[in-house]
Amino acid sequence: MLLQNKTALITGAARGIGKQIALCFAKEGCNIAFTDLVIDDVARATETELTALGIICRAYASDASDYDAAHAVVKQVQADFGRIDILVNNAGITRDSLLLRMTEQQWDAVLTVNLKSAFNFIHSVAPIMLRQRAGSIISMSSVVGLNGNAGQANYAASKAGIIALTKSTAKELGSRGVRANAIAPGYILTDMTAALPEAVREEFVKMIPLHRGGTPQEVANVALFLASDLSSYVSGEVIQVNGAMA
Ligand code: NAD
Repeated sequence: MLLQNKTALITGAARGIGKQIALCFAKEGCNIAFTDLVIDDVARATETELTALGIICRAYASDASDYDAAHAVVKQVQADFGRIDILVNNAGITRDSLLLRMTEQQWDAVLTVNLKSAFNFIHSVAPIMLRQRAGSIISMSSVVGLNGNAGQANYAASKAGIIALTKSTAKELGSRGVRANAIAPGYILTDMTAALPEAVREEFVKMIPLHRGGTPQEVANVALFLASDLSSYVSGEVIQVNGAMA
């Protein structure tokens, strides 16, 4: 049990990679607080699945990109669980378009949800972790945050921002035992990538030396390493999970 009696707060975890991270942590004894935009049947089913693993789990409806809402939900989680040991900044969206056709709305939406959300949660959770003199912050970047991608200037910029935010956080909070790391997944099989045209998905698989998309579990395994004491001297790092795609 790598995370016995710890509490993790995971944003956007009703489905996809966030849900798998929650399941992976819960199997290691971790209590789970997760957010999503709405707590609908899908989110309730995730909550039930997590609770069945014998841990405490609560789902919170909260827009991660809203500064006040993020601070309010962190306050509520701290009141409900008494501590927050692990923060996973997972909530994310795409609004793909070639640069010259990209609207201001597409740019703002992606930067706000993907990058500002991570700031909101780090800003509100950090005082709790600093008081505890321990904590692990994990933020979801992307292979395109390192390499760029045609048609995803907004998404790539937001994910590059996550890396700079992570490295700065690691430098600011390290002296009090708080670590911060990013995961940069490649092509992972979730609802987000299922929305891509089939031709684009086939092209991805051709570009990947391991010749397949990754699974949410394969990302969750790396998150578990970063959340636990197995990575006690790893901070300010970006771990790529991409089948050698880069
Ligand atoms: P997904 O679309 O399957 O799930 C994302 C979840 O975030 C959804 O439940 C959604 O409702 C929630 N969400 C969106 N906006 C939110 C907001 N403002 N507040 C709270 N919740 C919000 O996506 P996924 O594939 O599981 O991706 C998870 C993370 O991993 C994202 O940050 C994504 O950018 C990143 N990522 C995914 C891939 C991939 O190939 N799937 C690759 C690299 C990085």
